[in-house]
Amino acid sequence: MKLDADKNPWLDAAPTRKLFAALPKDSARFVGGCVRNALLGAPVADLDIATTLEPAEVAKRLKQAGFAVHETGIAHGTLTVVCASTVFEITTLRKDVSTDGRRATVAFTKDWNEDAQRRDFTMNALYADLAGQVYDPTGQGIADIKARKIRFVGDARTRIEEDYLRILRFFRFTAWYGHDRIMDKGGLAACRDLQSGLKTLSAERIWSEIKKLLSAPYPFRTVNVMLVGGVLETLLPEASNAEGLQYLCELEAIKSLEPDPYLRLMVMSGRDELATARLCKRLKMSNKEKARLMAWAGDQTKLTPDMPKKESEIAFYTAGRQVAMDRAILRAAGAGADMNRWWHVYLQAKNWQKPDFPVAGKDLIELGIPHGPALGKAMRALEALWIKSGFNVQKPQLLTAAKMLFRNLDGL
Ligand code: ATP
Ligand code: MG
Repeated sequence: MKLDADKNPWLDAAPTRKLFAALPKDSARFVGGCVRNALLGAPVADLDIATTLEPAEVAKRLKQAGFAVHETGIAHGTLTVVCASTVFEITTLRKDVSTDGRRATVAFTKDWNEDAQRRDFTMNALYADLAGQVYDPTGQGIADIKARKIRFVGDARTRIEEDYLRILRFFRFTAWYGHDRIMDKGGLAACRDLQSGLKTLSAERIWSEIKKLLSAPYPFRTVNVMLVGGVLETLLPEASNAEGLQYLCELEAIKSLEPDPYLRLMVMSGRDELATARLCKRLKMSNKEKARLMAWAGDQTKLTPDMPKKESEIAFYTAGRQVAMDRAILRAAGAGADMNRWWHVYLQAKNWQKPDFPVAGKDLIELGIPHGPALGKAMRALEALWIKSGFNVQKPQLLTAAKMLFRNLDGL
């Protein structure tokens, strides 16, 4: 089995050739996602390389060859190497010495077979050299790629007990590459039986995997299997509406929408402010992620498909474009005959140009309104007036109104 350099330009790219030239012959091979995806005909995102050399030796050689070497992961045997905007993750061959379900103590090895044994799935334990020659130390990886079977390397239970994140990775890779195949029975049963171990994982690792799972083109069947097996409830007690996810995926297919893991999470959780707040907190989401979910969950703006244009634009301004788009798309999903009416609201919000409020604080200060609460109050009152007019009232009229307002407010 050989990878085709024409279809995989990264194999033959200048940074790749320069990197392999800096290392002794046969000491490095591609591994993991890039080999797996190349064989599956899926896009290759990042380039992982396994090497028999120890990290300090790799760092020395690559620095000499002019690469930028980042040593943040060196304690685990990983270096990040950058050349002409190509990023390589280079990891010394390892074998697990001890594991506790969350992290492993590892030792370096020069044995490719030992390194393959500590990897999670047979299709992730495939290696390729610079010529594209594929190596399959487990003897099952290539066949499993062909069958799109996500199969643990070795005994599923043992491998899960070493690292419970593998349960989520099993579902993530199934959602991406095996969604239309029968899942490995033993692997699935082990994931179901050992799911309570997921509770020992850090929120960051869980959320990062869930996001990847929910970014798969067709995650619905996998999520349904997770629901039936109780794994979804263990992971996302606030977001277990698998049926909603199916509707959203159907809409995505009809309207050629890119998968959006946040929308998918929203449809699975429903617009409940408290539950959403709990979900954001438990998964330790970033402020940006939290902001999008909470704005959507808490929005009270009236939004319906039959609103006159002016009214819907006022709604977009009040709710915010993203919230309006999110609400409309989620209403379109599974709406049956109403789908296109809500889709139209989504498109309207998407194409809407947010108007700029024409009055600035300094305009009011020039009119003699002092800094402080009165200024804020006047700005808000003017903005409300401007919004109510459908954004039509112009700056001079607003300033005239400001003068009157201030007279009334402060008795000038
Ligand atoms: P992608 O980069 O597309 O998410 P990947 O397979 O490259 O997929 P990474 O997380 O980049 O995934 O990991 C690289 C490789 O390291 C995997 O292919 C696998 O061989 C191994 N690996 C990663 N995480 C684990 C784990 N928790 N247990 C065992 N092996 C793992
Ligand atoms: Mg990878």
